[in-house]
Amino acid sequence: MTGLPEGAAFVLARLEKHGFQGYAVGGCVRDSLLGREPKDWDICTDALPEEMQRVFRDQHVIETGLKHGTLTVMYAHEPYEVTTFRVDGEYTDHRHPDEVRFVKDVVDDLSRRDFTVNAMAWNPKTGLVDAFGGQEDLKKKLIRCVGEPERRFGEDALRIMRALRFASTYGFAIDEATAQAIHRLKHTLQDVAAERIRVELAKLLCGQGAGEILREYSDVIFQILPKLAPMAGFDQRTPYHAYDVWEHTVRAVENAPATEVLRLTMLLHDSGKPEVFTVDEAGVGHAWGHQKASVSIAEEALAYLRVDNATRDRVLQLVEMHDWPMSTERTLLKRRLNRLGEEALYQLIEVQRADALGKGTESVADVEARTAAIRQALDTLIAERPCVTLRDMAVNGRDLMQAGIAQGKTLGETLNWLLNEVLNERLANDREALMAAARAHAAEQQA
Ligand code: ATP
Ligand code: MG
Repeated sequence: MTGLPEGAAFVLARLEKHGFQGYAVGGCVRDSLLGREPKDWDICTDALPEEMQRVFRDQHVIETGLKHGTLTVMYAHEPYEVTTFRVDGEYTDHRHPDEVRFVKDVVDDLSRRDFTVNAMAWNPKTGLVDAFGGQEDLKKKLIRCVGEPERRFGEDALRIMRALRFASTYGFAIDEATAQAIHRLKHTLQDVAAERIRVELAKLLCGQGAGEILREYSDVIFQILPKLAPMAGFDQRTPYHAYDVWEHTVRAVENAPATEVLRLTMLLHDSGKPEVFTVDEAGVGHAWGHQKASVSIAEEALAYLRVDNATRDRVLQLVEMHDWPMSTERTLLKRRLNRLGEEALYQLIEVQRADALGKGTESVADVEARTAAIRQALDTLIAERPCVTLRDMAVNGRDLMQAGIAQGKTLGETLNWLLNEVLNERLANDREALMAAARAHAAEQQA
């Protein structure tokens, strides 16, 4: 193991100096063995909470988790969670152990952890403690429960989502027995707080193996978000699509940049299609109005997942606009900038790219070339700092009023008309030109 940070080394050394065991454990061990940079370094120890308090008396510590055996030790402004070895008591609600019990053996602590790859501990003296075959599973790229899968998922249903999330993040497969238990116990996810499901779902969607997981575990996804289920196997009967709606969705997700906003958008963008679907006399399928139908399914899904407002609003906007016409044409891009702003417009371009790649009817090279041209046209336009909002305009309401051109109700109307002329490049964003045009416009209105 490499890369043990100074703070973690300090915590381990300090525990040892006081006669206690200390190990780096869980995600940091897994990630180090995978050659990835761990996000944080968790430490476990046989020291009891009050003993930890004594050992780290002279350190800045945070005691929020002490009841469950966790003390956060600050070192060089970085937090290190130090947790007493423990085993969980009975689970009666698929969520929380009824009690925790502190223990003295690190292997007992490892045995309560969810997956073999997460159940390894390490310290510089003893090296790796791997009692459940975690290293081998890392080599085999396998997510496997520690112990009996049905029992482990029965204790805590969130582990179902964690299994899918880890498999997606690392591009791993899920061991057969673990997979079977996931399918069988998916309904217990209804007992899990939606906020926690959201966190795991976002990571799942952003993982390298997201497509595989969405395909193989669509039943779990539909358990969480039942309104997505009609997409599965839904034949679109159109030359514009090679795949059913769910397979298209999965491919669109895979092809979008790995951010929560974009991947959620792709997951939801066509969810309303089955609902509005019609077939014409020629036998061709249509999904007119599916954008609105998708928005309402998305609204419900995002509310259930307790997604924050900024994420929700952006996803809904992108779902609604996902197939608005787009081109390299300057005035079109200006109108889109006016409506969306820079960030959302760049996102919409990615949404449309992912959507197109997910259809399987156009060559990848064509989609990429079109997308690159649009990005380039937008970059160029933005570098000119174009006028795309009322705020950017070279005249404002006061100017028009002072010149006696417009007031009251007509003021706003005139300003919007001017902006529209500027967006469509029929007028330059130039004070003189705008004032003259406003005068002519007002005269015309009065005539
Ligand atoms: P990440 O890199 O995303 O933080 P992680 O493995 O560190 O992944 P955490 O949620 O930070 O995940 O949990 C730390 C460790 O605690 C895990 O590696 C695992 O050993 C254990 N653990 C976490 N959640 C559970 C759970 N629901 N059931 C059993 N063990 C768990
Ligand atoms: Mg972690």
